[in-house]
Amino acid sequence: MKRIKMTTPLVELDGDEMTRVLWKMIKDELLTPYIDLKTEYYDLGLTHRDETDDQVTKDAAEAIRRYGVGVKCATITANAARMEEYHLKKMYRSPNGTLRAMLDGTVFRAPILVKGIEPCVKNWKKPITIARHAYGDVYRDAEIRVPGKGTAKLLFTAEDGTVTEKKIFDFEGPGVLQGLYNIDSSIESFARSCFSFALGVKEDLWFAAKDTISKVYDGEFKAVFQRVYEKEYKEKFEQAGIRYFYTLIDDAVARIMKSEGGIVWACKNYDGDVFSDMLSSAFGSLAMMTSVLVSPDGCYEYEAAHGTVQRHYYRYLKGEPTSTNSVATIFAWTGALRKRGELDRLPELSAFADALEKATLDTIAGGTMTGDLARITTLPDPKTVDSLGFIQAVRATLEAERS
Ligand code: NAP
Ligand code: MG
Repeated sequence: MKRIKMTTPLVELDGDEMTRVLWKMIKDELLTPYIDLKTEYYDLGLTHRDETDDQVTKDAAEAIRRYGVGVKCATITANAARMEEYHLKKMYRSPNGTLRAMLDGTVFRAPILVKGIEPCVKNWKKPITIARHAYGDVYRDAEIRVPGKGTAKLLFTAEDGTVTEKKIFDFEGPGVLQGLYNIDSSIESFARSCFSFALGVKEDLWFAAKDTISKVYDGEFKAVFQRVYEKEYKEKFEQAGIRYFYTLIDDAVARIMKSEGGIVWACKNYDGDVFSDMLSSAFGSLAMMTSVLVSPDGCYEYEAAHGTVQRHYYRYLKGEPTSTNSVATIFAWTGALRKRGELDRLPELSAFADALEKATLDTIAGGTMTGDLARITTLPDPKTVDSLGFIQAVRATLEAERS
């Protein structure tokens, strides 16, 4: 069979541990046999990040800016334990944090629904998409360990030398201190991408923060959303029969549990981090969620929302069987290939992405799945397969559906 040709390279960001193992299996079994895969490869594995003093992460972000579409494998975020395990020169920032800071934009995460895997929340009938602001806040903070008695102040020096100062706290003893920031232009583009996305899928948009407590910081987020809505989207929302509303984050959490889904839920950076994991596991599994970062200038980075599945990797290293779910990583590739197909007018490439997604879901609906899904499926007698076995089963379904 003739392999599908690509014109523009896809920016490929390799990663760590079990997901790096899945990455290769997916390429070997599901992609290169069918596509003349053209990628610009960046190895974001922790060892190579360390060798390049993390320059490779910045180069990868630049490449995504240049080509417009990237696909990323999960990566380790360095911490004290990883410093020792990998003998790192320093504690690198989270690669996702670096990429998001360089690309700006919003991360959209939606559950992958499939027959046989029912959400834990019985009233959720439709997907809930989390739109996570991907810039600033705690991911770009400055922190100080306060050694003892003293005064902490917030201080801003304007370009003309004017100083604005505000006391934070008089410390009587040791403690901790954190400084956060965000910028209007990023909040505005976050708001715009949420309104546009909600219009595209014709679903209500919720935005929630905590402006009753954080009157200036969260208050600004709320005001920006309201302003952008009234000026640019109100009429379009009314025409589409959907609505936008703001509420407090704790109220949003309470309401989401009672809703039937079919909502785009815009979250600040940290809230989005936490609630996307809650949603994906409630919808079935961490591995049943798509994730795409959309930058304001129209660059796309597709990834899986879960981590590197460290526990499975250690078992894999010992030669023990693993049953790691590759669906989110497959969908990261299909998302990126479909987008590349759209941008380069290669309908064959986009159609292949659709076919691979269908084959993946049909494999599960047909009863063959990894352990995480087999434990929760409502299908009778599911067949549990190992990591490679699942990918090979998807290939068999794909072959059957193509012929
Ligand atoms: P994780 O890799 O998401 O895994 C947590 C647990 O969730 C696993 O032990 C496994 O449970 C289950 N799980 C997650 N993905 C699965 C899959 N595809 N198939 C089956 N089960 C799955 O989170 P973690 O162990 O806390 O973090 C590991 C590393 O990933 C860390 O170094 C962290 O920094 C990094 N991380 C990276 C990203 C990213 O790059 N996007 C995101 C989050 C975390 P069982 O063990 O019970 O089977
Ligand atoms: Mg997370």
